[in-house]
Amino acid sequence: MSDIEKVHCLIIGSGPAGYTAAIYAARANLKPVLYQGLQPGGQLTITTEVENYPGYPNGIMGPQMMVDFEQQAQRMGADIRWGLATKVDLSQRPFRVEIDEELTIETDALIIATGASAKWLGIESEQRLNGHGVSACAVCDGFFFKGQEVAIVGAGDTACEEALYLSKLCSNVHMLIRRGEMRASKVMQERVLRTPNIKVYWNSETKEILGEHKVEALTILNNKTNEETTIPLKAFFVAIGHQPNSDLFKGVIDMDEQGYIMTRPGTSKTNIEGVFACGDVQDKHYRQAVTAAGSGCMAALDAERYLGTLEL
Ligand code: NDP
Repeated sequence: MSDIEKVHCLIIGSGPAGYTAAIYAARANLKPVLYQGLQPGGQLTITTEVENYPGYPNGIMGPQMMVDFEQQAQRMGADIRWGLATKVDLSQRPFRVEIDEELTIETDALIIATGASAKWLGIESEQRLNGHGVSACAVCDGFFFKGQEVAIVGAGDTACEEALYLSKLCSNVHMLIRRGEMRASKVMQERVLRTPNIKVYWNSETKEILGEHKVEALTILNNKTNEETTIPLKAFFVAIGHQPNSDLFKGVIDMDEQGYIMTRPGTSKTNIEGVFACGDVQDKHYRQAVTAAGSGCMAALDAERYLGTLEL
């Protein structure tokens, strides 16, 4: 039998969405408890400088920004804890969430802010040079490679969108497609193919990213001809999809076919009354720190209204 603790408002996840929800919920006196999960601070802790979050005129390092978010939530009175939600039971009220398989939290309202994780190729150099020219977010990091040669891997709408974004900043964008066609919508493909400084490499796989301390070149392999090519460049962007961190809620909360939690348009409400979702776990389009923070605010306001109805 695990220990049981009753709370009013439980938040799981500690990216911009979770911490913003905690700030608003604490200020509304909901006495929120937030569990940080496996990667306290979320995806921003693996980026370098963030220049597009309003309020930081000189930019800020991603990890520091998440420390700032955490401290602000704590200062407002949120109870921030290290721990991972391992099981949920949303069939009864209060809802039950098991933490680290040893503590059961009973909560009146639940805010899910578990985020998403970028998919990676899984090669050694990609991990080693992550943050040193390897990135999974062109909008976050493209700016640092203004006027330089860069590459992007992926053939979906995200890869096309990011390749187009990079083409406006960088001298040349080398785009690697592992098959002889793209998965992206026709309109996005056409835009990419019409852009003079995007060079598409069909049937091409990433063999190795070269460079000791920063990205210097890329070796690619044509899987039809077995030909290897080395391209000198400064950055390598991975855009092969994201995985929403929603496994815990499969079969319980409505999701789309990719596992993104579905919320009622214009709200953070899920199909279960009293359960709210915010940030990247429910957003496959924008995925920015500022949009995640905005949706965290929405979730706290929705939770506050919901909890108000319980007291009537
Ligand atoms: P997708 O899953 O649609 O595409 C992933 C791409 O990455 C595929 O082309 C896939 O190749 C490729 N890929 C996967 N693994 C590897 C690998 N190991 N090596 C090389 N390539 C690999 O992800 P997206 O993030 O692009 O899009 C997710 C969803 O969001 C989609 O529904 C998309 O339409 C939507 N979206 C819509 C936008 C818009 O409307 N403006 C913008 C962004 C996203 P393969 O095709 O060979 O499997």
